[in-house]
Amino acid sequence: MRIGITGGIASGKSTVARLLAERGALVFSADEAARAVVAPGSDALAKVVELLGSSVVQADGALDRAETGRIVFADDRKRRGLERIVHPAVLKLLKAQVEAAEVDLRGSWLVAVEAPLLYEAGMKSWFDAVIVVTCSAREQVNRLMTRNGLSAPEAARRVVAQMPLDQKAAMADFVVANDGSEADLAVAVNNLWKGLLALNAGSTNQA
Ligand code: ATP
Repeated sequence: MRIGITGGIASGKSTVARLLAERGALVFSADEAARAVVAPGSDALAKVVELLGSSVVQADGALDRAETGRIVFADDRKRRGLERIVHPAVLKLLKAQVEAAEVDLRGSWLVAVEAPLLYEAGMKSWFDAVIVVTCSAREQVNRLMTRNGLSAPEAARRVVAQMPLDQKAAMADFVVANDGSEADLAVAVNNLWKGLLALNAGSTNQA
């Protein structure tokens, strides 16, 4: 079975993906794919430099993600331009990764793709089920300030630039609420795992 994991910025998507991987899911990440497609020397990186300027390239030739973030989160036109370069390449790579994993399942029944922009990028139809990881906007801001060292206004700008989380939750097959502790999240993921097993058993019975 193939599932997507999405949510808001810093809502806990990667943590949920890690907990599912610990339980045996094969997990792929759109963020990792996005890093791979702009590797030094890639066509996508050359296009990004054309759009945003050479300040986004580090001395080692890699994309400076912090600088890129600073530029595009302050300029919607540039953010959309960056997305037009990176998204098609990411989708192509992820599709290839998932299809290869499904040929070679390595004993797993679950392939999961963590994709922050799953709905925005039109990926919903790829999946048997979509999991949306939510938390309050206040918690998103707190986590961004702690993890990324952003100021409160910078963090808030990134949160409000996204599709509202309740809109994503309304489209989800499973919602994982992540407003509590990490221990609470582990319990929620155990329940999710049971729900996914049941869904998988149902689809196997119907087949
Ligand atoms: P991004 O959108 O930036 O990729 P994400 O949605 O993948 O983020 P995570 O990286 O899983 O979110 O979590 C964001 C931060 O909040 C991390 O530093 C993580 O350790 C922390 N975190 C996540 N869930 C909890 C929780 N329930 N309690 C405390 N800290 C948490």
